[in-house]
Amino acid sequence: MPDKHYSFFGAVEKSFDKAAKFTKWEKGILEQIKECNAVFQMRFPLKRDDGNIEVIEAYRVQHSHHKAPCKGGIRFAAEVNQDEVMALAALMTYKCAIVNVPFGGGKGGIRINPKKYSPYELEKITRRYTAELIKKNFIGPGTDVPAPDYGTGEREMAWILDTYSAMHPGEIDAAGCVTGKPVTQGGVRGRREATGLGVFFGLREVCNMPDIMKKLGLTTGVEGKRVVVQGLGNVGYHSAKFFQDAGAKIVGLAEYEGAIWSDKGLDVDEVFNHRKKTGSILDFPGANNFEKNGDALEMDCDILIPAALENVINGENAPRVKAKIIGEAANGPLTPDADDVFGKKGTLVVPDMYLNAGGVTVSYFEWLKNLSHVRYGRLEKRFAENLNTHILGQMEELSGKRVKENEREFIMHGPDEVDLVYSGLEETMIAATHEIMNTWKNNPAIPDMRTAAYVVAINKVGTSYAELGIFP
Ligand code: NAD
Repeated sequence: MPDKHYSFFGAVEKSFDKAAKFTKWEKGILEQIKECNAVFQMRFPLKRDDGNIEVIEAYRVQHSHHKAPCKGGIRFAAEVNQDEVMALAALMTYKCAIVNVPFGGGKGGIRINPKKYSPYELEKITRRYTAELIKKNFIGPGTDVPAPDYGTGEREMAWILDTYSAMHPGEIDAAGCVTGKPVTQGGVRGRREATGLGVFFGLREVCNMPDIMKKLGLTTGVEGKRVVVQGLGNVGYHSAKFFQDAGAKIVGLAEYEGAIWSDKGLDVDEVFNHRKKTGSILDFPGANNFEKNGDALEMDCDILIPAALENVINGENAPRVKAKIIGEAANGPLTPDADDVFGKKGTLVVPDMYLNAGGVTVSYFEWLKNLSHVRYGRLEKRFAENLNTHILGQMEELSGKRVKENEREFIMHGPDEVDLVYSGLEETMIAATHEIMNTWKNNPAIPDMRTAAYVVAINKVGTSYAELGIFP
């Protein structure tokens, strides 16, 4: 249960205020950064498959117009409410600033449990929602660009694009009205796994910092780290997979219906397929079931990655969490009370608004691709391969030796779209990690990494507002 005395937006504001003290901005600018610029609340009817009419509640919030377009996912969940969408939109503004993605923050939400609707009903809801956004100019490649979030994916993004394009005939940049699309509909390779990969790159960078690891009593590097992941959806599955591939041990996995653990390590794909086949993560061969799925959060491990929903760790269960590092893959998984507990315990909380920025970073790459109308790598791949072949040939001729076959393949390979996207994401996450850590190190009064991340974000958005000026 979340702590009762904070709304989600209230929690974001609390973290903001904690960080604002470490910045030079005057009160008025700080207020302008903090507020949501535009909140669109809508209701529309849905005719269900059984003929009944139901009223659907939905939102789109544009938190900040300091850069255009606004950017942020659309969530389908029964818990969606205005406060939650406002909080998530605000986090998007700060997230984009930290990873130098030139967008303002936005977020959308539809208050439905998607599991209770047929694909046809979901399509009608998504298309009507898009039409409502169009009517109020809340969507477009230059104004506001949604993306997937909890409960939505490529399918919904394709419906949004189709609705938008149908209502904007001839708009050459229409594909840039939404990101997270299927590759066949203007999506970019690497977007699907981007958030999980960004979580991995960010945490790997932190694990590679000897001073931080020493303070936590851990060895440097990802290899051998014991990891627990909550949520095996888009973000959780890919985070777990990239950690496993890098030599970490996934010792616990939690889903909606239950949680499992094994000291020997769990194979992420095997667990995923077991769940698909049996409908449950429980009773995975060779693993043990936890009594309650929340118990996984309290398991002894090095890194805990909550990748499901917000407020899962609060003042009540935080004292029992044993992980040394918490990587916030989900948005807002910790309440401010939990933050206070971890601050006192010396647990390192790697904050959501930077750690899960991989999705929006690659969404930015997708949007650029849509505006440039050309696939990444198309122009340079063959050129690079020809050049590399030539250089290698010259080296072999001059040395009289032949390079090993696997090395030869690696050296000669010209960049594909996915190589460039991964490389752009890796660079972004590494640069952001160092910027936040340096801000923290340069001001020892900053209490934690979340506050340091907010300081970085507030300074960038503040500069933007100050340089733009405020309209009279
Ligand atoms: P998703 O719908 O693909 O997956 C969420 C998973 O969490 C589902 O498998 C669900 O069954 C599981 N879950 C729900 N309640 C649970 C519980 N109590 N215990 C354990 N598991 C539970 O959603 P997603 O896109 O992976 O998003 C997850 C989180 O990451 C959200 O907070 C979202 O805002 C955030 N996020 C997503 C993206 C993205 O690109 N998809 C980007 C940034 C942040």
